[in-house]
Amino acid sequence: MTSQLADQPGTPRSALERGPGPGPGRVLRAEGSPTRVVRLGGIEFGGGFVVIAGPCAVEGAEQIELAASAVRAAGAHLLRGGAFKPRTSPYAFQGMGEPGLRLLCEAGRRHGLPVIAEVMESAQIPLMLERVDVLQVGARNMQNFSLLRALGRVRRPVLLKRGFCATVEEWLLAAEYLLDGGNEQVILCERGIRTFAPEVRNTLDLSAVASAKLRTHLPVVVDPSHATGNRDLVIPMSLAAAACGADGLMLEVHPRPSQALCDGAQAITPVAFEELMRKLRPVLAAVGKTLAAAALPTAAAQSG
Ligand code: PEP
Ligand code: MN
Repeated sequence: MTSQLADQPGTPRSALERGPGPGPGRVLRAEGSPTRVVRLGGIEFGGGFVVIAGPCAVEGAEQIELAASAVRAAGAHLLRGGAFKPRTSPYAFQGMGEPGLRLLCEAGRRHGLPVIAEVMESAQIPLMLERVDVLQVGARNMQNFSLLRALGRVRRPVLLKRGFCATVEEWLLAAEYLLDGGNEQVILCERGIRTFAPEVRNTLDLSAVASAKLRTHLPVVVDPSHATGNRDLVIPMSLAAAACGADGLMLEVHPRPSQALCDGAQAITPVAFEELMRKLRPVLAAVGKTLAAAALPTAAAQSG
């Protein structure tokens, strides 16, 4: 399998094309082939535009319930909420751990939303498999190769965030670890890279989204929350992501951002989230896309 870009005369071949052993370049898009769909119940990453929303971290039963009900009402497809948080400072809130995962899972069930949370180390995988529908690999762990190898062995979708100092090539090679292990349900997530710009927490690299989509068949979503660190920039950057061909978004939404224990400055309110969902539709229509169909209500949501 070769990539269109690497085949141009004079373009150096990438590690993906020249990798040794059988089947290098599993992440690469065969010329003319469509994005491979990652299915999750009735939701299809790589089909309609998928929106993941929820707080940075699960903080308690009431907070995650309010977040879940608000994002579901506005049309989100998945609920996010970290229980194991990778924090820069060891003194910052580290997440609720296992009880947080349980609250996330229960809130998701009540509202018919599949859930996603970050897995920080291989030892957490069995617990994550009990509670979450998608396992998230955070930016700081993008090149934790033993974690990637372990997740290559599971049969559950993995959302792989781009490291904030990683090239697109390195990001695709990290995904290659998952595919090489036999896990083909991989979603890529651009979440901004470190630059010199003090106005933003990171710089949202939308060219990486377009570039990754040219090279790989994997769906690519965008996280404008961590990319900007500023809630006022989340709606415009979400619309830009939709316009440049992303397959979806991951957004931090908190019922009371000013009280958030983690990343409050970049969390949008439920009202802003509703506004964003409204503004997305015409932008998607302009690029020939539509929002994915709403999550199917689960049996628990229907009975409760
Ligand atoms: C997150 O999504 O909660 C997170 C920690 O993001 P990142 O790994 O992109 O910093
Ligand atoms: Mn966060």
